[in-house]
Amino acid sequence: MADVGVKPSYDADVVIAGAGPAGAAAACHLARSGTSVILLDRVTFPRDKVCGDFVGPSALVELDSLGVSRMDRYARTNIARRAALYIGGEELISRPFPEIEGIPSHGRVIPRLALDQFIVEAARGAGARVMEGYRLTGFAAGREAVAVEAASSNGHLTLRCRLLLGADGSSSTVARLMRGSAPPRRDRFIAARAYFANVEGPDDQLDIYFDRSCYPGFYWLFPTGNGEANVGLGLALETWPAHNLTPAAMLRRLMRDDAALAARLRNARLRGKIVGWPLMTYNHRLKIVSDRVMLIGDAASLINPLNGEGIQYALLSARWAAETLAPCLRDDDFSARALAPFAARVESEMRYDMALSRLIVQLISNRALTPLWIGASKILAERAHKDANTARIVSGIFAGLLPARDAFKVVGGTIGEAARSLASKAVTRAFRGPRGWAGPGAYTAPAGFQLASDAAKDPADFAEWLKCAAACTLELGSQAAWHIIASSRKG
Ligand SMILES: Cc1cc2nc3c(=O)[nH]c(=O)nc-3n(C[C@H](O)[C@H](O)[C@H](O)COP(=O)(O)OP(=O)(O)OC[C@H]3O[C@@H](n4cnc5c(N)ncnc54)[C@H](O)[C@@H]3O)c2cc1C
Repeated sequence: MADVGVKPSYDADVVIAGAGPAGAAAACHLARSGTSVILLDRVTFPRDKVCGDFVGPSALVELDSLGVSRMDRYARTNIARRAALYIGGEELISRPFPEIEGIPSHGRVIPRLALDQFIVEAARGAGARVMEGYRLTGFAAGREAVAVEAASSNGHLTLRCRLLLGADGSSSTVARLMRGSAPPRRDRFIAARAYFANVEGPDDQLDIYFDRSCYPGFYWLFPTGNGEANVGLGLALETWPAHNLTPAAMLRRLMRDDAALAARLRNARLRGKIVGWPLMTYNHRLKIVSDRVMLIGDAASLINPLNGEGIQYALLSARWAAETLAPCLRDDDFSARALAPFAARVESEMRYDMALSRLIVQLISNRALTPLWIGASKILAERAHKDANTARIVSGIFAGLLPARDAFKVVGGTIGEAARSLASKAVTRAFRGPRGWAGPGAYTAPAGFQLASDAAKDPADFAEWLKCAAACTLELGSQAAWHIIASSRKG
């Protein structure tokens, strides 16, 4: 580690760059335990952040521990008790969130303008020094301190601290400087969101929509209360073949063409603009600690690639970081080795689940497989109508309550059934001869034929997709095996 020549006199024990849910929650936990904290953000609060605004039940538990749930304005935020799934404008299933002991059976939809302000207030109340309008521009980690460079409209300053927490979101400067590069393109999602007033339908229901024209993306309508709603769309950046519309353009088209969404927006008014934002999804290979520096929340790419949910992981990683730091602060040891338990905790809590999510996203990002996924979603919905346990698992996945691994058997069996159904269609087609093979395009062609035709058109792209799918399968296999061994040792 290069010595930057600072004396061990500090402006704060910990400087946190970014006062979103991750940074503000970490500031609150640390300040409460007596640690001196400076929380910097490049903007002033309240500030908007492009998001779906859904705060799942597990995130509500974290907000409770921060004291946010005792605020009057929080109590007035909109409660979501159920989720409905639509495919191609048709409702497949609508279910209340499952009951799980110790966790509320509802979520909330809280515009980020309000949510992030609540958490910053909690941090300030706990004793953190909040510096708004200060942008971290660089840092140097030395033997005795970190020198954090920040710029504001009044000029430049250097803050000395014992540890820097990078909580500066999906385009994190701290992460880029720590790793020396930007995260890989294939972990990137792009998303867009807009607010509407005068929306029809129930205020306590989250609507999630799929349509083959935007697979592997999904879009949503999340009511924020009083007839208003957050409407948005998220999409993996790398698909095969590539999409040629921007998320905002795709969302505009779906608001017009999707019968279910259009019905809820029949008399609605757009408030403001449709705004886009990038997301970086979880990748266990990315470094999240180094000497005197840690990353949390989106800066550490702690986003579930399957549903874009990140607030819960931002809040959880903030608490895990504060817990890891307690002995480091006591022993004055902030080496990468002393901080490693944080990375290990993130890995043990998230890696297995995210391995399954990543494999699913990798498979669906090949648009030739769209019929398989549409078929699997329909089969899953049909099963959920008949079987209470499947219904519980489906609604639990939407609410971010159940680890993906719990859903593995149900989802795996469903994909198998969908694949068998597609294969039988393919065989029927094959028997019909050449006229049967040349179906009316990608939507009706069985996935296998479409896959083969796409591979022939662009073998290099196809080989890259196949390589990534194989890597994701291996990762999932190794995680599953590791968990079996670990649980048999415990048993
Ligand atoms: C369209 C969309 C929809 C989403 N929907 C949901 C959803 O419904 N539910 C859910 O759980 N998750 C959702 N997410 C993910 C969620 O928004 C993030 O996971 C969450 O915001 C992460 O919080 P964070 O504190 O890590 O980062 P952020 O909320 O991004 O906060 C980072 C903060 O750092 C500040 N900052 C940035 N750079 C600097 C710098 N150099 N110096 C100082 N400050 C800096 C920023 O101003 C910002 O305040 C969605 C994301 C998108 C894009």
